[in-house]
Amino acid sequence: MTDTIEIPERSGTAFLLAAGQTLTVIDPRGVQVADLLAFNADDLAEVISSGRSLDYAETIFLTTGHILYSNRSRPMLSIIADTVGRHDFLLTPCSYDTFHHFYPDLPPHRGCFGNLAAALEPCGVAPDAIPTAFNCFMNVAVDGTTGILSVLPPISRAGDHIVFRAEMDLIIGLTACSAPASNGGSFKPIEYRVD
Ligand SMILES: [Zn+2]
Repeated sequence: MTDTIEIPERSGTAFLLAAGQTLTVIDPRGVQVADLLAFNADDLAEVISSGRSLDYAETIFLTTGHILYSNRSRPMLSIIADTVGRHDFLLTPCSYDTFHHFYPDLPPHRGCFGNLAAALEPCGVAPDAIPTAFNCFMNVAVDGTTGILSVLPPISRAGDHIVFRAEMDLIIGLTACSAPASNGGSFKPIEYRVD
C-alpha cells in the first residue's frame, strides 16, 4: 500500500494512473467534494465523458460496478468500491464564473476549474479541454418531475471513500472543491492513494 497524499483545502493536483492501478479518493473529515478528471495519457483528446457514462449506466447516480467512459466510449475508470453511494456527474467544476453567478458577495475563487487547469497545464491540457468532472461525494438532488437541481451537503462522513480501477493509462486531475454550497459551507482537504 502506498502513502496517502493530502490535497489541501481549495486546491488541486494531477498525476499519472497506470492501467490496472487503483485510485482511492478519501473524504478524511466528511462533507467534502473532490472533482475528478481523466485523460488518456497517450492521447489527451480522449477524455472522461459524463454524457457517455450516464447514458450507458442508465442512471445519474453512479456507484460500485459502474464504469466511467471516455468520449470514445471506451472504459477509463471502473468504480470498484464506494462507501457513500452518492456522487454527481452533471455539473461542471466550480470556477471564477461560478462564484460570480452564485456568490457575488463572496471573494471570488478560481475554484476546481482553475485548480484543475493549473495542475493539468504542465501535462499539456488546455483549459478549454476540461470536461464535466466526476464529482466524488457531491450531492445533487434532482426533482424527477420538474427537473430542478438542488446542491445539498455531501452525505459522506469522515473516512468515507470511493475506489476506481484504471482501465487505460490515465492522467488524473483531482481537487478539494472550493464552492460553499457543495461542501456544507466549509472547506476541507481531500486525500487519495494509488495502489
Ligand atoms: Zn469545486
